[in-house]
Amino acid sequence: MNEKCNCDVIRDLLPGYIDNILSDTGSKLVKNHLGECEECHKIYTEMEEGIEKDDLSVYDTIAVDALKKIRKRTNRLKITIGILVGILFMFLLSAALKIYVIGTALGSGYMSILDTAYDEETGQLTVNGKINLSSFHVSKVVWEEDENDPNVVNVIVYYAETIPFAKDKTDFSVVIPNVKGKKVYLACPEYDRMEIYDWRTYHYEELENLKNEIYSKISELNEKTDALNCMQGITTVDGIEGISFNVDFIDGEGASYWWFNGMLTTDGELAPADFEIWISLEKPHKILIYDYQTGEYMDDFSIIVNRRLTAEKIYF
Ligand SMILES: [Zn+2]
Repeated sequence: MNEKCNCDVIRDLLPGYIDNILSDTGSKLVKNHLGECEECHKIYTEMEEGIEKDDLSVYDTIAVDALKKIRKRTNRLKITIGILVGILFMFLLSAALKIYVIGTALGSGYMSILDTAYDEETGQLTVNGKINLSSFHVSKVVWEEDENDPNVVNVIVYYAETIPFAKDKTDFSVVIPNVKGKKVYLACPEYDRMEIYDWRTYHYEELENLKNEIYSKISELNEKTDALNCMQGITTVDGIEGISFNVDFIDGEGASYWWFNGMLTTDGELAPADFEIWISLEKPHKILIYDYQTGEYMDDFSIIVNRRLTAEKIYF
């Protein structure tokens, strides 16, 4: 065995020597060689130190792992707190928005209408009003068609708390298109509403003229015993705007009828006809009968006599 080969063998045995697992003979061999060979001794010293370093690094790893875990937990806690703070912030923000910006629908009792202006040309209604609450302001005004009645428009005013020192905006103005034939209410959808405009009231004369027109054109109708009642708003037939009148037959000797609070009242007997009379708003007036039995409009007025006879049989 030459010197070089001997060194190689010794270096192969070094790990076992350091771990103290070599036989006594092997151990002695390595020990003797290390006493003689400076190079192998140097390697031995480095290996031993290296193992010590490795051992230390195990502890380091444990410590680093623990630190990492703590950091992870801290991060998780930070994220959780962040989310909670975020939720709280959003909640406060939405609450503040609701209180100061968006507002709540206001009951009609807390508002006054200053004026309403109807434009005959466009059919638009402009409503000006104000809220009677201090330290609150108008945040929004909307109008919407009533869910149950297409001839009713509801105006809803939202009020919000005024931020200290900010200027109060207590008045409101809203333009509602196409109010022709309709009623407009100042409404808080939850509980109350107040009528602010009724197209029929302001066009009473026009409606009376239309009624007279119907009586004069339809000889089958009798002004004294056949009452015309405008219940709906505008009805469009073949693209033409018109008004529909319900018909009630009155019976009884010398019986008459009148209107009380918009209700048809009579000292005789009253029977509803099962048809309506429609008249166009534009001149020359077009008059049609809307038959409830067929669901159709027609310009033949001869059914009126028969329908009156039927009603008399049933009601009188
Ligand atoms: Zn050696």
